Amino acid sequence: MDSIQKNETFELDSLKCLRTEYFLNECDLCFSRCNFDALGLLNEKIKLFDKRCTQCADCVGVCPTHALKINSFDINNFIYNFINSNKNIIKERDDIPSFGMLNCTYLIILVINKPKLILEYDKEKNNFFYLQNIYKQTKNILKYFNYNFYIEFKKIDRKKDFKNFVNKNLFKSILKNKQKSFILNQIKPQIKDLLIKNLKKVSKGYEKTKLNIENSTLFFNKTIDKNRCTNCLDCVNLCPTNAIFQNSNKNEIVFNSFNCVGCHICNDICKEKALHNSDYIQIEDYINKKNKTLIKFFYK
Ligand code: SF4
Ligand code: SF4
Ligand code: SF4
Repeated sequence: MDSIQKNETFELDSLKCLRTEYFLNECDLCFSRCNFDALGLLNEKIKLFDKRCTQCADCVGVCPTHALKINSFDINNFIYNFINSNKNIIKERDDIPSFGMLNCTYLIILVINKPKLILEYDKEKNNFFYLQNIYKQTKNILKYFNYNFYIEFKKIDRKKDFKNFVNKNLFKSILKNKQKSFILNQIKPQIKDLLIKNLKKVSKGYEKTKLNIENSTLFFNKTIDKNRCTNCLDCVNLCPTNAIFQNSNKNEIVFNSFNCVGCHICNDICKEKALHNSDYIQIEDYINKKNKTLIKFFYK
């Protein structure tokens, strides 16, 4: 099977999906978001049923490894341009194909730059509950920084042909890419770095604070039970993002929260059940992308 599965504008890169042969993960975030049964499994691997897919983009924001995208719309560039504009309103289907493309990372960046934000959600698309979920997570995180923001959620009945939106933007983006590809490449933000930059803005004086990250879809922290770990390195070898790795002297297992996508592969692969999720993370560790020693080797 080709690694890229796609239709007119929606694209799934199976190699980035956690359900590859190698990662053997049980992630089902995208297919639980899809209202059209357009994503599912074939032989335990992710499959796009392209004829069923309406290219609505509702699933895009949930994928922890950015395996899903709408070709006509670069969400990272949208966020970057929006926070640098004087706008404070985002209209679903007019400005962005779906609020399902947002996630906690994007929402934190948005509200730090736009403390009064209006999100006009389309009645037909019904992303309200999804938005509420990431809004709650964002609020729970930013309360530790004593940072206040306000989002007005406005329901709009847009009754617009969604395909027109996608095609119009696809055409625009092709033209734009042709003329300005080198500039777009230069300014294309690395979204997690943009998140860090923004968290640094609001975290002065709160660096030592411990965030409660229970149920977070953005922050993850790990500990190793030293009495159980056998130093087998299975977790190091299977982590898809190198968030767990060996230090340069090869005598420690180290964790970097910034790189972790919370896929749980390390917890599942560990035969000894030595790896655990921690419910807290210190702000300064995250914003400084600090490595933390999980265990020093002892070679039993
Ligand atoms: S959300 Fe991403 S990683 Fe998870 S199954 Fe879907 S494509 Fe794969
Ligand atoms: S550290 Fe564990 S949970 Fe985090 S990305 Fe790596 S395997 Fe997944
Ligand atoms: S935590 Fe588990 S998987 Fe990782 S090295 Fe230790 S025993 Fe192996």
